[in-house]
Amino acid sequence: MLKVENIHKAFGNNEILKGVNIEVAQGDVVVILGPSGSGKTTLLRCIEFLEQADRGKIIVGDLQVDVTAAKKKDIHMIRQRVAFVFQNYNLFSNKTVLENITEGLVIGRKMSKSDANELAFAALAKVGLTDKQAAYPSELSGGQQQRVGIARAVALSPDIILFDEPTSALDPELVGEVLSVMKNIAKEGTTMLVVTHEMSFAREVANHIIFMDQGVVVEEGTPDELFVHPKQQRTKQFLQRVL
Ligand code: ATP
Repeated sequence: MLKVENIHKAFGNNEILKGVNIEVAQGDVVVILGPSGSGKTTLLRCIEFLEQADRGKIIVGDLQVDVTAAKKKDIHMIRQRVAFVFQNYNLFSNKTVLENITEGLVIGRKMSKSDANELAFAALAKVGLTDKQAAYPSELSGGQQQRVGIARAVALSPDIILFDEPTSALDPELVGEVLSVMKNIAKEGTTMLVVTHEMSFAREVANHIIFMDQGVVVEEGTPDELFVHPKQQRTKQFLQRVL
């Protein structure tokens, strides 16, 4: 489904990703854990071509893109297949909830407005916000805004959704509603790659955990392997701090 091969990324002289390989199979919920600054967000952004990696390949299904030779068309095709949920929601403030969701369908997918509305309504129902379709983002709580962000990704019917710390901008009392929506769409079989510091979500919902530190994958495995029987010293130290 998604394969990331040997991704390197530096900002100036600062090498952030030092040859990262990951694989996500269809229906997987993969969580990436790691200390602040280990390159988790940068990795997700490189997969979506929001950052241009320096070296490596992104493979989604039968689409294989060498990042150094990526053309506009390749990037467009990757973005058709890979949706992104941002930490800060990234909603258009001058558009309604419904318009935020249909925009990508009408402009990016050249869908008719009525078909786009139908998909948007279905996605809004999934995140429990049907009654907010005419609201503007500023009229919503952070948790509701993020649920719109998730609905927007779901409506695109992508092969995989990338979540970049989806709850870390939220007040603690709003985290639960977003995690519960993520849990529900995971149950439906959505393929997800999630950067999060929410350990309970990682333990309960993920079927595979990747631990990154200093721009490399240090260790990966099932939640049981990572949380109960970590092998690497760096993983153990990290878990001692966060659990
Ligand atoms: P956190 O859990 O704190 O979000 P992270 O593992 O997601 O951390 P990244 O956000 O990927 O880490 O950042 C890794 C490093 O890359 C950090 O040192 C950061 O300052 C640096 N970095 C990220 N984006 C840029 C940029 N556009 N320009 C320069 N440096 C950057």
